[in-house]
Amino acid sequence: MSDYVKNLMAEVKAKNPSQPEFHQAVEEVAESLSLVMERHPEYRAAKVLERIIEPERVISFRVAWVDDQGEININRGYRIEMNSAIGPYKGGLMFHPSVNLSILKFLAFEQVFKNSLTTLPMGGGKGGSDFDPKGKSDLKIMRFCQSFMSELFRHIGPDTDVPAGDIGVGGREIGYLFGQYKKLRNEFTGVLTGKGLNWGGSLIRPEATGYGSVYFASEMLNTRRQTLEGKTCLVSGSGNVAQYTVEKINQLGGKVVTLSDSNGYIYDEEGINAEKLNFIMDLKNVRRGRIKEYIEKYKNAVYTPVDSKLDYNPLWKHKAQCAFPSATQNEINAKDAGNLLSSGVYVVSEGANMPTTTEGIKIFLDEKILYGPGKAANAGGVAVSGLEMSQNSMRLPWIRDEVDNRLRMIMKEIHNTCMQISDRFGTPGNYVNGANIGGFLKVADAMIDQGVV
Ligand code: NDP
Repeated sequence: MSDYVKNLMAEVKAKNPSQPEFHQAVEEVAESLSLVMERHPEYRAAKVLERIIEPERVISFRVAWVDDQGEININRGYRIEMNSAIGPYKGGLMFHPSVNLSILKFLAFEQVFKNSLTTLPMGGGKGGSDFDPKGKSDLKIMRFCQSFMSELFRHIGPDTDVPAGDIGVGGREIGYLFGQYKKLRNEFTGVLTGKGLNWGGSLIRPEATGYGSVYFASEMLNTRRQTLEGKTCLVSGSGNVAQYTVEKINQLGGKVVTLSDSNGYIYDEEGINAEKLNFIMDLKNVRRGRIKEYIEKYKNAVYTPVDSKLDYNPLWKHKAQCAFPSATQNEINAKDAGNLLSSGVYVVSEGANMPTTTEGIKIFLDEKILYGPGKAANAGGVAVSGLEMSQNSMRLPWIRDEVDNRLRMIMKEIHNTCMQISDRFGTPGNYVNGANIGGFLKVADAMIDQGVV
């Protein structure tokens, strides 16, 4: 670790105590950027990274709501407006009991670089609540979303801050949030993305993160003149990102053998084909059930519940060539990374945000496998959100193929940026450096142009 990174991290930790996820995300980026700071002392002199680390605004608010039984509930809501150097704040909302300032700040920080990589004019933000939507009735969800938006509405707007969905916030929640925003503001604008198709949404938005992560894996494989055809793939999670990752892998001739939720995972040696994926989509998106129900219908599959005594996840031990972590942060630790390599995996494309720990990343980089970090590999979701904003501004929806082609081109462009930048800074094939530096340069130059604000 260079002196630059050491000093920076000491300051970050002192100023932001008890925020381990935020420290982890900053350290990863700072390590890559030490290569830039050596060559370009002007960024160091302008304290650009030090400024990026400090959110432009952190909003924390009370969300009080009454449930179906008349009971009063109190949750905490947040919006982190991290950086607006290249466009309005943009990033998802996450409803999950684990949500806290550390997690949202790490996600908002990552989002700044990711959005910059997409080539679209979007700044970085993130928000959410410690509300747990799991198992709640539609009425409870609606009441919570309305109360959440009753405060958030005054901080967001189509040219200020445009939230989207993320963990626990899908089409249903975006609908309730948008309805309340529209009522309070008395205007119909593109203030949220991930909207329903008949009220301003974009085709391919639900698919975009999963499809994008598979397009990114295909680009990485292409550098070795290979494709996904015939490859066995491990996918974690079973939500939005995981589902469309499976769909695209199947379309490109790969075979997915695992999916999971926070209670356990399924292994289906025969592959989760289109018909089985339909079952999962109905199970997760309509019936809101658990992944273990899969084995009641597909008897050859095996279900393994989470064993908290293990210091590794057995999902990552199955024989495969590709892995698509698509559930949550830090789901691959050093032991999992080692297990993945031993099972033959040499392509990792991160659908989730920061799913691999710092130690795990080091193992992938040392082995020089094709490792696509989330900032680059899962940028397809926010990219299509950007395209949804363009369509809203023009009041003109694009057809499915147009959006899908643009998504594919953007993922190709992100891949090229990562390759070129990692070459330029003397670490060829290192997508982590490529993504961190590539995302940073555009934001840093804009911040310098705009003065110290
Ligand atoms: P969903 O809520 O649709 O699905 C999340 C999935 O991950 C569920 O299967 C959930 O299981 C599982 N999961 C969540 N937390 C844990 C945990 N602690 N341990 C094990 N499994 C867990 O979210 P998304 O699919 O939208 O998001 C998945 C990841 O992708 C997140 O990291 C998100 O930040 C990232 N991402 C999402 C984007 C998007 O467009 N949606 C864009 C870019 C990144 P359970 O149902 O049991 O909670």
